[in-house]
Amino acid sequence: MNNITYLSGKEVSDFVYRDIKKRIRLLDKKKIIPSLAVILIGDNQASELYVRSKTKTFKKLNLHSKIFKLSETTSEKKILNLIYEINKNSYFHGLLIQLPLPNHIDKEKVVFSINPEKDVDGFHPINAGLLSVGRPNFIPCTPKGIMKILEYYKVNLNGKNVVVLGRSNIVGRPISILISSKTKYANATTTICHSGTLDIKKFTRNADVVIVALGIPGFLKADMVKNNSIIIDVGINRIKDQSSKGYSIVGDADLLDLKKKTIDITPVPGGVGPMTISMLVENTVESAEKYCARSSAG
Ligand code: NAD
Repeated sequence: MNNITYLSGKEVSDFVYRDIKKRIRLLDKKKIIPSLAVILIGDNQASELYVRSKTKTFKKLNLHSKIFKLSETTSEKKILNLIYEINKNSYFHGLLIQLPLPNHIDKEKVVFSINPEKDVDGFHPINAGLLSVGRPNFIPCTPKGIMKILEYYKVNLNGKNVVVLGRSNIVGRPISILISSKTKYANATTTICHSGTLDIKKFTRNADVVIVALGIPGFLKADMVKNNSIIIDVGINRIKDQSSKGYSIVGDADLLDLKKKTIDITPVPGGVGPMTISMLVENTVESAEKYCARSSAG
């Protein structure tokens, strides 16, 4: 018997694109086309794939995106100069730097140099700070997408025990801020587990919802969760296999093992991934709207 119910992120993203398209049409009437600049450094295959699928989505929606591809050995100074130019260029409403960066580049220096008004990834400390005081400007795409999944499937976290596995600035930390906020679909009692947590199972076993963002394939097993819990699997891991591609993409949850329990779970692929891309589009549209409002005010 299969006790797993899948919470499709693809379905949620199709739903949110309907609203985003209306907003794009309104901007179009004002002759504004949301435009995104993407800086891609080095030859990381996974990064190239992510960037391609982001820009493909922009193209499908008739939005603009431009990839600035730089070699692995590009100096930090050259990258900072490029960011400075894009910050100034009113053609671009959004700027993202695809992570990870080569080792010789200071990630903080690079991310901190993005104009917060164009920071559609929401990684700049000004935007991270605004999120943490409950005044969000740009919310990081993956956590924002997870909130939309919860809302779409009417998972109200009010009073629930939620365990977040992972504390990165991209996923774990911002999602824990969002779900613990006193807002609609949130207000959860939130526990964050990480590499310093001694007995993760002790926490996940009591969780109504587990959000797993570790980057460890098959980490979350049946004996770690209770029946009728909801699992948001953020992990994207490439594992070698015998397929024609030579690899497949799996999450952080061990689906085969989890079949022993009755759970709802976001699939990988087709869960959180499509939501991350749709939220990048939404944030870029939001940035274009803000630009439009600033221009007409000033
Ligand atoms: P990260 O490497 O920055 O953070 C991983 C976190 O896991 C860290 O906080 C670390 O403390 C914790 N951790 C590592 N090993 C652990 C262990 N053994 N026990 C407990 N905690 C441990 O990763 P990230 O950027 O947050 O990404 C996590 C995963 O999510 C990756 O697979 C990444 O590819 C994926 N991801 C997916 C999307 C998407 O759109 N679906 C977006 C971003 C990241």
